Amino acid sequence: MLKKWIGKVFVVMWRPLKLFPELTEADNVRYKVIFLNNVFTFAGIVSLTMSVIRWEKQPFLGIIDLIFGCLAFVLLGVLHRYKKNIELISSIALWLCFVQFLTVFFLATGSHSRSALLLLILAAAFYLKGRVTGYYMLAILLALVAGNHMIQVFPSDDSNLDILSLGFYLLAQFFIIRNYECLRESQTNHLKALNVDLEALVKQRTDQLAVANTALEFEKENFKRLSITDHLTGLSNRHHFEMVFAEHTPATTRRKITDALILIDIDYFKKINDTHGHVLGDAVIKAVATCIKKNSRISDITVRWGGDELIIYAPRTTLKQATQLAEKVRHQINSLHIPGVGSISISAGVAVLHQGDTLSQLLQRADLALYEAKQAGRNSVSASN
Ligand code: GH3
Ligand code: MG
Repeated sequence: MLKKWIGKVFVVMWRPLKLFPELTEADNVRYKVIFLNNVFTFAGIVSLTMSVIRWEKQPFLGIIDLIFGCLAFVLLGVLHRYKKNIELISSIALWLCFVQFLTVFFLATGSHSRSALLLLILAAAFYLKGRVTGYYMLAILLALVAGNHMIQVFPSDDSNLDILSLGFYLLAQFFIIRNYECLRESQTNHLKALNVDLEALVKQRTDQLAVANTALEFEKENFKRLSITDHLTGLSNRHHFEMVFAEHTPATTRRKITDALILIDIDYFKKINDTHGHVLGDAVIKAVATCIKKNSRISDITVRWGGDELIIYAPRTTLKQATQLAEKVRHQINSLHIPGVGSISISAGVAVLHQGDTLSQLLQRADLALYEAKQAGRNSVSASN
């Protein structure tokens, strides 16, 4: 039972104190080092002074004070050398103070140094080892002083008034420390509450930012889409096609079956514009674009090259297949009835990509074929050989 209690007290006294929980470990160590500096220096000075005072009358106690005074300064040096072992050093310091107090308490008849050491131990216990250790220390010290005063096991010069004032000192110190702890606790709670508010605010702002970001991404995508699309027909624009061609042709020309390009031009479009107006002219371009889109595969690129000229770029397509596709498109467009305009026709020139072709070389051949189709009386398809 006694062993258990001693063990318990020992564990409590050994346990490191989280001085200011909201501080970082480095800050905490720094504060402890500063505090220990003061404890060691004060304990050292008190002990050495007491040693000088006692040297004549109580040489034995003088030597003890001298030893403890020197130890305090040795510990001060050790602290500066091994700051990382602050917990161990603070425990040693505390126990040393306690042992010194007990020695002086049991052997000294004067009590002035006792009071100083006692307060020092108590403060150190609270600050360095935590509340529980502080309470134990307070209880032990009070019991020792009061008990000895009552039954006088050890000789003491203490008067009733001395004991009373010491008791008051101890209690006052206890309440000061307790007050300080309550204040820190309420500050910590206040900080925690502020932290919760701050977290909520950060979350709210993060959510708002996420929404704004999504809108921005959407706008960006939209803008990108608009920059590569022809506004009237919704097909790819010239710039986009040139870009895609530049990126993909090096790989394409190495294949056996290469790509085909169909250049489509609306017949007599100027006349349609002149007769029916630009608005209906636009409607004709749109109708042709829709028909082209409907007849092409997903892998095909359909382009408004400019004015009434449109392109179907068909990857992995032979000249024959492309000519058949052009014929199909020509036939379908020719069978359209466009409200306000009537029937229209297109001519198309077909060419395939040769090894090392540039876009303008490919287009030149397709354009030549288109010219032949126009020459052949329009509403026809011609392939470049
Ligand atoms: P051809 O059969 O030889 O092709 O004769 P064409 O009259 O169609 O001649 P061409 O292809 O050169 O005519 C192109 C015309 O297209 C000229 C221009 O006024 C008209 N045009 C160009 N862009 C637009 C547009 O966005 N909307 C409309 N409505 N007309 C346009
Ligand atoms: Mg034309």
